[in-house]
Amino acid sequence: MKLTNDIVVEKAKKIGFDLIGFVRADELKEESHHLKEWLAKGFQAGMEYMERNIDKRKDVSLILPEAKSIISLAVNYYTGKKHSNQKGKGKLSRYAWGKDYHLIIWEMLKALESELKDADPSFKSKSYVDTGPVMDKAWAVKSGIGWMGKHSNIINRNYGSWFFIASIITNYEFDYSNTIPGFCGSCTACIDACPTKAIVQPYVVDSNKCISYLTIENKGGISSEYSDRFDNWLFGCDVCQDVCPWNQKFSQSSRITEFQPVNEQTELDLSEILAMENPDFKNRFAESPVLRTKLKGLKRNAKYLLKGRYDMRNIIKM
Ligand code: SF4
Ligand code: SF4
Repeated sequence: MKLTNDIVVEKAKKIGFDLIGFVRADELKEESHHLKEWLAKGFQAGMEYMERNIDKRKDVSLILPEAKSIISLAVNYYTGKKHSNQKGKGKLSRYAWGKDYHLIIWEMLKALESELKDADPSFKSKSYVDTGPVMDKAWAVKSGIGWMGKHSNIINRNYGSWFFIASIITNYEFDYSNTIPGFCGSCTACIDACPTKAIVQPYVVDSNKCISYLTIENKGGISSEYSDRFDNWLFGCDVCQDVCPWNQKFSQSSRITEFQPVNEQTELDLSEILAMENPDFKNRFAESPVLRTKLKGLKRNAKYLLKGRYDMRNIIKM
């Protein structure tokens, strides 16, 4: 059976994807140029993997030689719950409340690719969700999933920005979607609200200053420079997305219950983390994105929130 956009959209929606777009697999010349400029400024901080495979990020035919199209997909993870901002607790970013999205979306991609291959055995694909040398955000913009907000996340008019993005590179040709214009207008709410001024200019985030980077990917210490600005963020930071009017008006709850907070926890008790042993950590966070920072990183963050404020000369080490 010849696959069409409608067939792909129907199957993807049934599996749980919320947004689907199609784009020709052309080279990402402008986007890779911007990436190089961003890297040249050192804005990737310790994320050295961002410096690797630039050629593959630009040209997906180096990943799948027969590449003709990208199917860009989005999965809404908004739960409708809120942080409780309780004293002595550290906030988890919304995306880390439930099961790790990689585990969920890998399964969904596997299911979709297998259905498409069953329908037409000539369908070939390689899929990615936030891992691997693929510029998921660039493909999401080009496929009309949304526009890039000034905080550098993708925004959709019906969902806001609380969604994960995945990309399927395929040898198949489709009808290609139209891009949509940006609707940030003169708004600067995310730039103004960022606690550490990490959005150094519209669409450009300096990871060295971003709480999300500092509490998750960062393998080193956290400078006391920001200790009075962390606002109890223990793992990640949602401020720039929380203040976005598109999220305030258009967020809608996800169909996927596994994104709901485990044990209703949107925050974690800081003293419990400091007392936690590795087996407990692995048990509690076995399928959570929090596993990524390891117990060592989570303890560093907890110490930072507990001590940072009164020891301004201190740099909390791992
Ligand atoms: S995640 Fe937080 S620290 Fe990072 S850019 Fe957004 S508001 Fe700023
Ligand atoms: S807060 Fe305003 S400027 Fe920032 S992404 Fe949302 S609409 Fe755009």
